[in-house]
Amino acid sequence: VVFHDTTEQKQAQQRAEERQAELLHVSRLSTLGEMASGLAHELNQPLSAIMSYASASVRSVQRGDFDPLKLATNLNSIVAQSSRAGDIIRRVRDFAQRRQPRLETVDVNKCVQDVLSLLHTTIRHAGVETALDLAKGLPTVHGDAIQLEQVLVNLMRNAVEAMQGTDSNHRQLTVRTATPSSDVVAVTVSDTGPGMDDKTKSRVFEPFFTTKDNGLGIGLSISRSIIESHRGHLWVAPSEQGGCAFTFTLPASQSPGAEEAQHDNQREATSRDVWTRT
Ligand code: ADP
Repeated sequence: VVFHDTTEQKQAQQRAEERQAELLHVSRLSTLGEMASGLAHELNQPLSAIMSYASASVRSVQRGDFDPLKLATNLNSIVAQSSRAGDIIRRVRDFAQRRQPRLETVDVNKCVQDVLSLLHTTIRHAGVETALDLAKGLPTVHGDAIQLEQVLVNLMRNAVEAMQGTDSNHRQLTVRTATPSSDVVAVTVSDTGPGMDDKTKSRVFEPFFTTKDNGLGIGLSISRSIIESHRGHLWVAPSEQGGCAFTFTLPASQSPGAEEAQHDNQREATSRDVWTRT
């Protein structure tokens, strides 16, 4: 009988995991720093709306001629806008949190929508249109929702930045989710930017490779390591519209509507072919 003491090996593995979690956290904080002004603007919108509804209500009460129904409508709008502001703060707080990787059941369509809310102002200020094509009945995946959101933030911000030099009437960010087979979930983020030449394409996933003046060159290498740690793949190909299409796949953990999604290629009514100018 041979006994092996694996304590050191396990400790080394634990230290490596802690360093990786720390790196992901620092990268998220740096991304949030760059998004700060857009986020402040995003938060300002519900706050301004609350201010307007509250001021109008106070004025009508002071005049003594208020209509109770109108007042109730204003108060309901204040509740709705407060909840919108609360959602923004919750998303930022979750994204900024320093924590150990957490395995949970993740709805990828919801991750996409949460990230789009975080980036809403950034996308709008960049004059980019967003098209969402979210598969109906998409299976859930097993993973860390915040890390997957980090990948989506990296891909969408890169897409928006890539389109800055292009015709402002032609800036489209498309996010599509699909089930290429019943046990795989795929997400594609594509743009109408300039695309990339073969040399750049062969290096984009290398750490510290960047073509931007103030780029760090770590977004894509981190994204690939997150996806691979979820037993998936991330790659880039030319998009149909001439820009880049970054796709990642993840193993499906559960496929309640997978068959339906695969055989019936329906898309969610709310998102199908709906092009929104954000
Ligand atoms: P950074 O954004 O800091 O440069 P990344 O690792 O996210 O770091 O990206 C590396 C490089 O990949 C970018 O500098 C850019 O040259 C290229 N790239 C990434 N996304 C796109 C895109 N959607 N279109 C064109 N080039 C891209």
